[in-house]
Amino acid sequence: MSSADKKILSALYTAQEIREAWEFAQNRLVIQHPKLGAISPNEYRLKFSQKPCPFCAKKMTHGKTLHATQSRQEAISRGYQYINNKGKDYINQAGEFYFHPHYVTLDHKINKARCPELMFDHQNLQAICWRCNIEKGDNNAYEIEQALKYIQDLKQEISNRYKFF
Ligand SMILES: [Zn+2]
Repeated sequence: MSSADKKILSALYTAQEIREAWEFAQNRLVIQHPKLGAISPNEYRLKFSQKPCPFCAKKMTHGKTLHATQSRQEAISRGYQYINNKGKDYINQAGEFYFHPHYVTLDHKINKARCPELMFDHQNLQAICWRCNIEKGDNNAYEIEQALKYIQDLKQEISNRYKFF
């Protein structure tokens, strides 16, 4: 992205403007990635199909025909339903489609509503699974919290194994 484009992006203000700019760019080569080159958000997601989610380490899925359905019943029988962070039964949904819990999504580390100029910045983007994306929400400390949780689990594991600690 040129600095001029960033200037245009930083002028976006309403949630709707930001959403529209993001939607409009889905199949355009708006991300300049040092390894992948110029790439669209949709192509970027596809690159992470079958790769582990950096937060939950589950294999991420991609492809609507294989990993989405319009039938809620079918979604449940495929095991798409999970218990979300509020303790409720939940299925990822977009439009009329229900999606696999670990379907790949493109997350903005710093929310695009806060910093629209970083919307297509590769350093601000990460492929994470839908479920983790929902749990993360607008919590910009999520990554740190997950790392802390990991360390706490590790500490617990060590004290379970070695009782003398
Ligand atoms: Zn995940």
